[in-house]
Amino acid sequence: MKITCPECKGEGEISGIGCPGFVPIVLPCRLCGGTKEEKGEGQVLQSLYERYIGARSLRDKRVSCGVSLREMAKQIGVRPSRVSDIERGYVNVTLAEEAAYRYLGEAYVGRSEEMNPL
Ligand SMILES: [Zn+2]
Repeated sequence: MKITCPECKGEGEISGIGCPGFVPIVLPCRLCGGTKEEKGEGQVLQSLYERYIGARSLRDKRVSCGVSLREMAKQIGVRPSRVSDIERGYVNVTLAEEAAYRYLGEAYVGRSEEMNPL
């Protein structure tokens, strides 16, 4: 059974900001199978949907801890693009990466309030 892709809302492509230049661009949605040449099908399998939801919660956790994507990448020992892929649900998370996110919450608990005075 397939579900509407949560990343592109079934469009098969997503809008973004080009780099460099800050121009609006439209990219094929990688979550539902888009490639450079073709847009995604706009639907994903249940398992992929669940990975996406889990990925978003990892991102939420990192952000709520006040840790930047680059800091997170450094902490795990991967490229920032890998962290971005993880948090978009594009890739499966390794045990080491999962552990780093878990540790993050514990390690930054005291700091997060100081860093986010909102
Ligand atoms: Zn999609």
